[in-house]
Amino acid sequence: MNRAALIVLAALTFARGSAAGAPGGPVFLIGIDGASWDLMDPLLAAGRLPNLSALMKSGCHAALRSDDTLNSAVVWTTIATGKTRQKHGIESWDLELGQPPSTLRKVKAVWNILGDAGARVLLSYYMASWPAEDLNGVNITPRWDSSVAVDGTISPKDAFAPAGEAAARRLLTRWPRTFPQSPSDPNSERARDDARLDVLTRALSQDESAASAAELFLSKGGFDFFAIHLWGLDWVSHWFLEAGAGEGRATVDAYYERADALVGRLLRFSRERATVMVVSDHGFKGAEPSLVRKNGRWRPTGAHAPAGILILGGPRAGRCASRGDASVLDVAPTILHMMGSAVGEDMDGEPLTRFLSEDFSRSNPVKRIATHDTAARPLDARKLTADPETLELLRKMGYIR
Ligand SMILES: [Zn+2]
Repeated sequence: MNRAALIVLAALTFARGSAAGAPGGPVFLIGIDGASWDLMDPLLAAGRLPNLSALMKSGCHAALRSDDTLNSAVVWTTIATGKTRQKHGIESWDLELGQPPSTLRKVKAVWNILGDAGARVLLSYYMASWPAEDLNGVNITPRWDSSVAVDGTISPKDAFAPAGEAAARRLLTRWPRTFPQSPSDPNSERARDDARLDVLTRALSQDESAASAAELFLSKGGFDFFAIHLWGLDWVSHWFLEAGAGEGRATVDAYYERADALVGRLLRFSRERATVMVVSDHGFKGAEPSLVRKNGRWRPTGAHAPAGILILGGPRAGRCASRGDASVLDVAPTILHMMGSAVGEDMDGEPLTRFLSEDFSRSNPVKRIATHDTAARPLDARKLTADPETLELLRKMGYIR
Protein backbone atom coordinates (compact mmCIF):
# COMPACT_ATOMS: atom_id res chain seq x y z
CA MET A 1 0.00 0.00 0.00
CA ASN A 2 1.45 3.42 -0.90
CA ARG A 3 1.63 6.40 1.43
CA ALA A 4 -1.39 8.25 -0.01
CA ALA A 5 -3.53 5.16 0.41
CA LEU A 6 -2.37 4.85 4.00
CA ILE A 7 -3.38 8.45 4.73
CA VAL A 8 -6.82 7.89 3.19
CA LEU A 9 -7.20 4.69 5.24
CA ALA A 10 -6.18 6.51 8.43
CA ALA A 11 -8.70 9.28 7.72
CA LEU A 12 -11.47 6.73 7.10
CA THR A 13 -10.59 4.86 10.28
CA PHE A 14 -10.69 8.08 12.25
CA ALA A 15 -14.06 9.04 10.75
CA ARG A 16 -15.49 5.67 11.72
CA GLY A 17 -13.98 5.87 15.18
CA SER A 18 -15.69 9.17 15.88
CA ALA A 19 -19.00 8.18 14.23
CA ALA A 20 -22.46 9.48 15.18
CA GLY A 21 -21.99 8.00 18.63
CA ALA A 22 -23.47 8.81 21.98
CA PRO A 23 -22.66 12.15 23.63
CA GLY A 24 -21.26 10.58 26.82
CA GLY A 25 -19.09 7.89 25.23
CA PRO A 26 -19.96 4.25 24.53
CA VAL A 27 -22.14 1.97 26.67
CA PHE A 28 -20.98 -1.55 27.59
CA LEU A 29 -23.43 -4.21 28.80
CA ILE A 30 -21.57 -7.11 30.41
CA GLY A 31 -23.77 -10.05 31.35
CA ILE A 32 -22.53 -12.53 33.95
CA ASP A 33 -25.08 -15.33 34.10
CA GLY A 34 -26.19 -16.27 37.61
CA ALA A 35 -23.99 -13.74 39.50
CA SER A 36 -25.33 -13.34 43.02
CA TRP A 37 -24.58 -10.66 45.62
CA ASP A 38 -24.55 -13.05 48.58
CA LEU A 39 -21.69 -14.95 46.95
CA MET A 40 -19.91 -11.83 45.66
CA ASP A 41 -20.00 -9.74 48.84
CA PRO A 42 -17.45 -11.82 50.82
CA LEU A 43 -15.15 -11.83 47.77
CA LEU A 44 -15.51 -8.07 47.32
CA ALA A 45 -14.73 -7.55 51.02
CA ALA A 46 -11.60 -9.68 50.66
CA GLY A 47 -10.41 -7.66 47.64
CA ARG A 48 -10.75 -10.65 45.32
CA LEU A 49 -12.88 -8.88 42.65
CA PRO A 50 -10.85 -5.73 41.97
CA ASN A 51 -12.39 -4.79 38.62
CA LEU A 52 -16.01 -5.11 39.76
CA SER A 53 -15.15 -3.33 43.00
CA ALA A 54 -13.63 -0.35 41.13
CA LEU A 55 -16.70 -0.17 38.90
CA MET A 56 -19.01 -0.16 41.95
CA LYS A 57 -16.99 2.69 43.46
CA SER A 58 -17.35 4.70 40.24
CA GLY A 59 -21.14 4.42 40.30
CA CYS A 60 -24.14 2.61 41.73
CA HIS A 61 -25.13 -0.98 42.37
CA ALA A 62 -28.43 -2.72 42.97
CA ALA A 63 -30.17 -6.01 43.53
CA LEU A 64 -31.72 -6.79 40.15
CA ARG A 65 -35.15 -8.43 40.37
CA SER A 66 -35.55 -11.24 37.81
CA ASP A 67 -38.84 -12.39 36.34
CA ASP A 68 -40.91 -15.28 37.68
CA THR A 69 -39.44 -17.89 35.31
CA LEU A 70 -35.79 -17.37 36.40
CA ASN A 71 -35.05 -18.86 32.96
CA SER A 72 -31.89 -17.46 31.37
CA ALA A 73 -33.17 -17.52 27.78
CA VAL A 74 -36.29 -15.59 28.82
CA VAL A 75 -34.56 -13.12 31.13
CA TRP A 76 -31.65 -12.18 28.84
CA THR A 77 -34.22 -11.33 26.18
CA THR A 78 -36.16 -9.26 28.72
CA ILE A 79 -32.89 -7.47 29.55
CA ALA A 80 -32.30 -6.74 25.85
CA THR A 81 -35.86 -5.57 25.09
CA GLY A 82 -37.27 -4.03 28.30
CA LYS A 83 -40.38 -6.14 27.75
CA THR A 84 -42.06 -9.07 29.48
CA ARG A 85 -41.82 -12.52 27.95
CA GLN A 86 -45.44 -12.32 26.84
CA LYS A 87 -44.47 -9.36 24.67
CA HIS A 88 -41.03 -10.44 23.45
CA GLY A 89 -42.03 -14.01 22.68
CA ILE A 90 -39.09 -16.00 24.14
CA GLU A 91 -40.81 -18.04 26.83
CA SER A 92 -38.42 -20.92 27.48
CA TRP A 93 -35.52 -23.02 26.19
CA ASP A 94 -35.97 -24.61 22.80
CA LEU A 95 -35.73 -28.27 23.68
CA GLU A 96 -35.01 -29.22 20.08
CA LEU A 97 -32.56 -26.47 19.06
CA GLY A 98 -30.87 -25.45 22.32
CA GLN A 99 -30.97 -21.67 22.75
CA PRO A 100 -34.21 -20.23 21.32
CA PRO A 101 -33.61 -18.80 17.82
CA SER A 102 -33.42 -15.01 17.45
CA THR A 103 -36.21 -15.29 14.87
CA LEU A 104 -38.64 -16.11 17.68
CA ARG A 105 -38.18 -12.68 19.25
CA LYS A 106 -41.16 -10.52 18.28
CA VAL A 107 -39.80 -7.09 19.23
CA LYS A 108 -36.67 -5.01 18.73
CA ALA A 109 -33.72 -5.39 21.08
CA VAL A 110 -31.68 -2.34 22.10
CA TRP A 111 -29.07 -3.19 19.46
CA ASN A 112 -31.73 -2.92 16.72
CA ILE A 113 -33.02 0.41 18.03
CA LEU A 114 -29.55 1.90 18.54
CA GLY A 115 -28.28 0.57 15.21
CA ASP A 116 -31.26 2.08 13.38
CA ALA A 117 -30.36 5.42 14.99
CA GLY A 118 -26.81 5.23 13.59
CA ALA A 119 -24.90 3.77 16.54
CA ARG A 120 -22.30 1.07 15.78
CA VAL A 121 -23.01 -2.02 17.86
CA LEU A 122 -21.02 -5.12 18.82
CA LEU A 123 -22.61 -8.26 20.23
CA SER A 124 -20.60 -11.19 21.52
CA TYR A 125 -22.23 -14.51 22.42
CA TYR A 126 -25.50 -12.89 23.51
CA MET A 127 -28.13 -15.42 24.53
CA ALA A 128 -30.66 -16.31 21.80
CA SER A 129 -28.83 -14.26 19.12
CA TRP A 130 -28.54 -17.10 16.58
CA PRO A 131 -29.26 -16.91 13.64
CA ALA A 132 -27.23 -13.67 13.52
CA GLU A 133 -29.35 -10.65 12.59
CA ASP A 134 -27.65 -8.09 10.38
CA LEU A 135 -26.91 -5.09 12.61
CA ASN A 136 -25.18 -1.75 12.16
CA GLY A 137 -22.01 -3.40 13.39
CA VAL A 138 -20.90 -6.92 14.26
CA ASN A 139 -22.96 -9.76 15.70
CA ILE A 140 -21.04 -12.85 16.88
CA THR A 141 -23.47 -15.51 18.09
CA PRO A 142 -22.62 -18.21 20.66
CA ARG A 143 -22.71 -20.79 17.87
CA TRP A 144 -19.77 -19.19 16.07
CA ASP A 145 -17.18 -21.53 17.59
CA SER A 146 -19.45 -24.58 17.72
CA SER A 147 -17.88 -27.77 16.41
CA VAL A 148 -20.96 -28.22 14.19
CA ALA A 149 -20.86 -26.09 11.04
CA VAL A 150 -24.05 -24.09 10.60
CA ASP A 151 -25.10 -20.90 8.77
CA GLY A 152 -25.70 -17.50 10.28
CA THR A 153 -23.31 -17.67 13.23
CA ILE A 154 -21.80 -14.22 12.57
CA SER A 155 -22.87 -11.06 10.79
CA PRO A 156 -21.48 -9.69 8.55
CA LYS A 157 -20.16 -12.97 7.17
CA ASP A 158 -16.72 -11.50 6.49
CA ALA A 159 -16.51 -9.71 9.86
CA PHE A 160 -13.18 -11.35 10.75
CA ALA A 161 -11.45 -10.24 7.53
CA PRO A 162 -8.76 -9.14 6.96
CA ALA A 163 -7.43 -10.68 10.21
CA GLY A 164 -8.72 -13.89 8.76
CA GLU A 165 -11.44 -16.30 9.65
CA ALA A 166 -8.91 -19.11 10.14
CA ALA A 167 -6.79 -17.08 12.58
CA ALA A 168 -9.90 -16.08 14.55
CA ARG A 169 -11.05 -19.68 14.68
CA ARG A 170 -7.67 -20.79 16.03
CA LEU A 171 -7.83 -18.09 18.69
CA LEU A 172 -11.38 -18.77 19.76
CA THR A 173 -11.16 -22.54 19.86
CA ARG A 174 -7.76 -22.87 21.49
CA TRP A 175 -9.18 -24.23 24.75
CA PRO A 176 -10.64 -27.76 24.87
CA ARG A 177 -14.44 -27.82 24.72
CA THR A 178 -14.94 -30.97 26.75
CA PHE A 179 -13.22 -33.05 29.40
CA PRO A 180 -12.81 -36.74 28.53
CA GLN A 181 -15.02 -38.97 30.66
CA SER A 182 -13.49 -42.10 32.12
CA PRO A 183 -15.30 -45.33 31.28
CA SER A 184 -16.63 -45.87 34.79
CA ASP A 185 -19.97 -46.61 36.39
CA PRO A 186 -22.10 -43.46 35.85
CA ASN A 187 -23.09 -43.61 39.53
CA SER A 188 -19.50 -43.60 40.77
CA GLU A 189 -17.72 -40.69 42.38
CA ARG A 190 -15.19 -40.83 39.56
CA ALA A 191 -18.03 -40.18 37.08
CA ARG A 192 -19.26 -37.30 39.26
CA ASP A 193 -15.79 -35.71 39.31
CA ASP A 194 -15.40 -36.13 35.55
CA ALA A 195 -18.80 -34.55 34.95
CA ARG A 196 -17.79 -31.59 37.12
CA LEU A 197 -14.51 -31.16 35.26
CA ASP A 198 -16.41 -31.32 31.97
CA VAL A 199 -18.70 -28.47 33.07
CA LEU A 200 -15.72 -26.42 34.26
CA THR A 201 -13.86 -27.02 30.98
CA ARG A 202 -16.89 -25.96 28.92
CA ALA A 203 -17.42 -22.86 31.06
CA LEU A 204 -13.80 -21.69 30.84
CA SER A 205 -13.71 -22.33 27.11
CA GLN A 206 -17.03 -20.64 26.33
CA ASP A 207 -16.32 -17.47 28.32
CA GLU A 208 -12.77 -17.22 26.97
CA SER A 209 -14.11 -17.45 23.39
CA ALA A 210 -16.79 -14.82 24.05
CA ALA A 211 -14.23 -12.40 25.54
CA SER A 212 -11.56 -13.07 22.90
CA ALA A 213 -14.04 -12.58 20.06
CA ALA A 214 -15.13 -9.26 21.58
CA GLU A 215 -11.53 -8.14 22.09
CA LEU A 216 -10.72 -8.73 18.41
CA PHE A 217 -13.32 -6.08 17.51
CA LEU A 218 -13.08 -3.76 20.52
CA SER A 219 -9.37 -3.36 19.77
CA LYS A 220 -10.31 -1.77 16.43
CA GLY A 221 -12.50 0.81 18.19
CA GLY A 222 -15.48 2.64 16.77
CA PHE A 223 -18.28 0.88 18.68
CA ASP A 224 -20.95 2.90 20.50
CA PHE A 225 -22.71 -0.04 22.15
CA PHE A 226 -21.24 -3.39 23.15
CA ALA A 227 -23.01 -6.33 24.79
CA ILE A 228 -21.57 -9.68 25.86
CA HIS A 229 -23.01 -12.70 27.66
CA LEU A 230 -20.68 -14.77 29.87
CA TRP A 231 -22.57 -17.95 30.66
CA GLY A 232 -19.92 -19.99 32.48
CA LEU A 233 -20.55 -18.88 36.06
CA ASP A 234 -24.10 -20.26 35.95
CA TRP A 235 -22.91 -23.71 34.85
CA VAL A 236 -20.15 -23.79 37.45
CA SER A 237 -22.61 -22.66 40.16
CA HIS A 238 -25.02 -25.48 39.22
CA TRP A 239 -22.33 -28.13 39.51
CA PHE A 240 -20.11 -26.86 42.30
CA LEU A 241 -22.05 -24.62 44.67
CA GLU A 242 -22.84 -26.16 48.03
CA ALA A 243 -24.83 -24.68 50.86
CA GLY A 244 -21.72 -24.48 53.05
CA ALA A 245 -18.11 -23.51 52.45
CA GLY A 246 -16.83 -26.79 50.98
CA GLU A 247 -14.41 -27.48 48.18
CA GLY A 248 -17.14 -26.79 45.63
CA ARG A 249 -17.62 -23.29 46.99
CA ALA A 250 -13.89 -22.62 46.50
CA THR A 251 -14.27 -23.48 42.81
CA VAL A 252 -17.26 -21.14 42.48
CA ASP A 253 -15.28 -18.38 44.24
CA ALA A 254 -12.39 -18.93 41.82
CA TYR A 255 -14.81 -18.67 38.91
CA TYR A 256 -16.06 -15.31 40.23
CA GLU A 257 -12.42 -14.16 40.18
CA ARG A 258 -12.17 -15.42 36.60
CA ALA A 259 -15.29 -13.44 35.62
CA ASP A 260 -13.84 -10.35 37.31
CA ALA A 261 -10.61 -10.78 35.31
CA LEU A 262 -12.60 -11.00 32.05
CA VAL A 263 -14.44 -7.79 32.99
CA GLY A 264 -11.03 -6.18 33.53
CA ARG A 265 -9.85 -7.33 30.10
CA LEU A 266 -12.95 -5.90 28.39
CA LEU A 267 -12.80 -2.62 30.30
CA ARG A 268 -9.29 -1.96 28.97
CA PHE A 269 -11.02 -1.04 25.71
CA SER A 270 -13.28 1.48 27.43
CA ARG A 271 -10.31 3.71 28.27
CA GLU A 272 -12.59 5.07 31.01
CA ARG A 273 -14.90 6.54 28.38
CA ALA A 274 -17.61 3.87 28.50
CA THR A 275 -20.50 3.77 30.92
CA VAL A 276 -20.66 0.14 31.97
CA MET A 277 -23.57 -1.97 33.17
CA VAL A 278 -22.70 -5.36 34.64
CA VAL A 279 -25.84 -7.43 35.11
CA SER A 280 -26.94 -10.96 35.91
CA ASP A 281 -30.24 -12.56 34.95
CA HIS A 282 -30.83 -14.15 38.38
CA GLY A 283 -28.97 -15.04 41.54
CA PHE A 284 -28.03 -18.49 42.78
CA LYS A 285 -28.47 -20.56 45.89
CA GLY A 286 -26.60 -23.72 46.75
CA ALA A 287 -28.04 -26.88 48.25
CA GLU A 288 -26.67 -29.73 50.33
CA PRO A 289 -25.54 -31.99 48.76
CA SER A 290 -24.89 -30.08 45.54
CA LEU A 291 -25.16 -33.22 43.40
CA VAL A 292 -27.37 -36.28 43.66
CA ARG A 293 -27.59 -39.54 41.72
CA LYS A 294 -30.79 -39.77 39.73
CA ASN A 295 -31.76 -42.27 37.02
CA GLY A 296 -28.16 -43.38 36.59
CA ARG A 297 -26.71 -39.85 36.26
CA TRP A 298 -25.39 -37.17 38.55
CA ARG A 299 -27.72 -34.16 38.76
CA PRO A 300 -27.13 -30.72 40.25
CA THR A 301 -29.52 -29.63 43.00
CA GLY A 302 -28.70 -25.89 43.28
CA ALA A 303 -31.26 -23.40 42.07
CA HIS A 304 -31.62 -19.95 40.55
CA ALA A 305 -32.58 -17.22 43.02
CA PRO A 306 -34.81 -14.19 42.27
CA ALA A 307 -32.24 -11.42 42.80
CA GLY A 308 -29.38 -10.87 40.38
CA ILE A 309 -26.84 -8.05 40.32
CA LEU A 310 -26.59 -4.67 38.66
CA ILE A 311 -23.51 -2.43 38.67
CA LEU A 312 -23.63 0.85 36.77
CA GLY A 313 -20.30 2.70 36.62
CA GLY A 314 -18.45 5.18 34.46
CA PRO A 315 -18.94 8.72 33.15
CA ARG A 316 -22.76 8.84 33.20
CA ALA A 317 -23.15 7.13 36.59
CA GLY A 318 -24.17 8.86 39.80
CA ARG A 319 -22.80 7.91 43.21
CA CYS A 320 -24.91 5.78 45.54
CA ALA A 321 -24.32 5.41 49.27
CA SER A 322 -26.01 2.02 49.50
CA ARG A 323 -27.25 -0.85 47.34
CA GLY A 324 -30.42 0.00 45.44
CA ASP A 325 -33.11 -2.04 43.82
CA ALA A 326 -34.04 -2.41 40.13
CA SER A 327 -35.69 -4.82 37.70
CA VAL A 328 -34.34 -6.68 34.69
CA LEU A 329 -37.05 -4.75 32.79
CA ASP A 330 -35.21 -1.47 33.52
CA VAL A 331 -31.94 -2.35 31.77
CA ALA A 332 -32.98 -1.70 28.15
CA PRO A 333 -34.78 1.62 28.90
CA THR A 334 -31.67 2.74 30.84
CA ILE A 335 -29.36 1.88 27.94
CA LEU A 336 -31.57 3.76 25.45
CA HIS A 337 -31.77 6.80 27.72
CA MET A 338 -27.98 6.84 28.26
CA MET A 339 -27.45 6.62 24.49
CA GLY A 340 -29.78 9.57 23.82
CA SER A 341 -32.54 7.40 22.32
CA ALA A 342 -36.22 7.52 23.22
CA VAL A 343 -37.71 4.97 25.63
CA GLY A 344 -40.71 3.06 24.24
CA GLU A 345 -43.94 3.68 26.17
CA ASP A 346 -44.72 0.00 25.54
CA MET A 347 -41.61 -1.09 27.46
CA ASP A 348 -42.34 -2.53 30.90
CA GLY A 349 -39.38 -0.98 32.73
CA GLU A 350 -38.14 2.53 33.43
CA PRO A 351 -34.78 4.22 32.89
CA LEU A 352 -32.81 4.12 36.15
CA THR A 353 -32.25 7.88 36.35
CA ARG A 354 -31.66 7.58 40.13
CA PHE A 355 -28.37 5.81 39.31
CA LEU A 356 -27.22 8.46 36.81
CA SER A 357 -25.25 11.61 37.55
CA GLU A 358 -27.01 14.93 38.07
CA ASP A 359 -24.82 16.34 35.34
CA PHE A 360 -26.05 13.81 32.82
CA SER A 361 -29.68 14.04 33.93
CA ARG A 362 -29.73 17.86 33.78
CA SER A 363 -28.75 17.98 30.12
CA ASN A 364 -30.55 14.76 29.07
CA PRO A 365 -34.25 14.62 29.91
CA VAL A 366 -35.86 11.22 29.26
CA LYS A 367 -37.25 11.09 25.72
CA ARG A 368 -40.35 8.98 25.02
CA ILE A 369 -41.82 7.36 21.94
CA ALA A 370 -45.04 5.31 21.74
CA THR A 371 -43.21 2.28 20.41
CA HIS A 372 -40.09 1.25 18.50
CA ASP A 373 -41.99 -1.73 17.10
CA THR A 374 -43.93 -0.11 14.30
CA ALA A 375 -43.58 -3.10 11.95
CA ALA A 376 -43.44 -6.86 12.32
CA ARG A 377 -39.88 -8.17 12.51
CA PRO A 378 -38.56 -9.34 9.15
CA LEU A 379 -38.87 -13.05 8.54
CA ASP A 380 -35.66 -15.03 8.38
CA ALA A 381 -36.00 -18.03 6.12
CA ARG A 382 -32.79 -19.71 7.23
CA LYS A 383 -33.15 -23.33 8.19
CA LEU A 384 -32.96 -23.81 11.96
CA THR A 385 -30.71 -26.65 13.06
CA ALA A 386 -30.11 -28.03 16.52
CA ASP A 387 -27.04 -27.10 18.57
CA PRO A 388 -25.96 -30.42 20.12
CA GLU A 389 -23.42 -28.75 22.45
CA THR A 390 -26.04 -26.51 24.06
CA LEU A 391 -28.55 -29.37 24.22
CA GLU A 392 -25.95 -31.45 26.08
CA LEU A 393 -25.43 -28.57 28.52
CA LEU A 394 -29.17 -28.17 29.10
CA ARG A 395 -29.27 -31.90 29.81
CA LYS A 396 -26.40 -31.52 32.28
CA MET A 397 -28.15 -28.65 34.08
CA GLY A 398 -31.33 -30.74 34.31
CA TYR A 399 -33.48 -28.65 31.93
CA ILE A 400 -33.86 -31.66 29.66
CA ARG A 401 -34.57 -34.95 31.40
ZN1 LIG B 1 -28.70 -21.86 35.45
